[in-house]
Amino acid sequence: MKKNRSRLPFAIRKSSISNRVFRWYSRSARVLPWRGERNPYRILISEVMLQQTQVSRVLQKYPQFLKRFPDFASLARAKTSSVIRAWKGIGYNNRAVRLQQLARILYAEHGGRLPRTVEELQLLPGIGKYTAHALACLAFNQHLPVVDTNIKRVLGRLFPPLAKRMDIWELAEMALPRRHAHLWNQALMDLGATICTSLSPRCEACPVVKLCPSAFQIQKRNVPSTRREPSHDGLPNRIYRGRIVDVLRNSPRRSFVPATRLGNQIKDSYSIQDEAWLLRLMKSLEKDGLIVMRHTKAGVAASLPQ
Ligand code: SF4
Repeated sequence: MKKNRSRLPFAIRKSSISNRVFRWYSRSARVLPWRGERNPYRILISEVMLQQTQVSRVLQKYPQFLKRFPDFASLARAKTSSVIRAWKGIGYNNRAVRLQQLARILYAEHGGRLPRTVEELQLLPGIGKYTAHALACLAFNQHLPVVDTNIKRVLGRLFPPLAKRMDIWELAEMALPRRHAHLWNQALMDLGATICTSLSPRCEACPVVKLCPSAFQIQKRNVPSTRREPSHDGLPNRIYRGRIVDVLRNSPRRSFVPATRLGNQIKDSYSIQDEAWLLRLMKSLEKDGLIVMRHTKAGVAASLPQ
């Protein structure tokens, strides 16, 4: 049965799949505070937070951030140091700086509102193809596909031959049902996050199991593949960067912290041999707008930008 159904013409499979996914989603959608949200600012904040932070953490931090900065105006007006402080616990602090740059650009160039087209959205800081499509679809109700890692995986498993020979965005466009793109995109995200997971898909609980050529074919794995990233003494530089920002967040406002003190606070057994590495990290943070550096006779010191 599975084999026959997977050979049905594309249009018929597509419509059977979307009907089943919609039915499943109406019963099983995750309850998330940004679901059903139509306010572009609040959607943007959720999308940017979710780019690199787990849902459970975002659930905690999203309402706090919105309380502190409820709209583009408050974000644009704030001191950068306040935005970085409010981003505490979310990680990848560059996102906070880029969000504020975006809010300021909106006031300088777009009358304080997000533009509506994917092309214009992608010109804004921190907005890539995925976020631009998610905003256009979820905030402005445009009939567009969205491709994140969950959707990519689900489509790849549902349409393996097409996924091998087509660009995933083209496939996502082809697979889009005729109506309700915003529900479809969110439903696929939920399906990928809760059932068609990367390591242990639960095909037995999947609403499209009878239409899926990959059903029960995915080898369950326990260990995610590891990604190499620049490290120092066994820890990724990303962690040290976060620690530097944390030290500055916890320092009195406008105070500059000397590099040596920073080094001692972010790394056990910090020594003179680590100095050049620490300076490189600090320069990269300065380049990203997360810190400002001061060079004096006594050495280098850093602070959050005001
Ligand atoms: S049947 Fe299995 S592999 Fe196919 S979409 Fe569902 S969970 Fe994923």
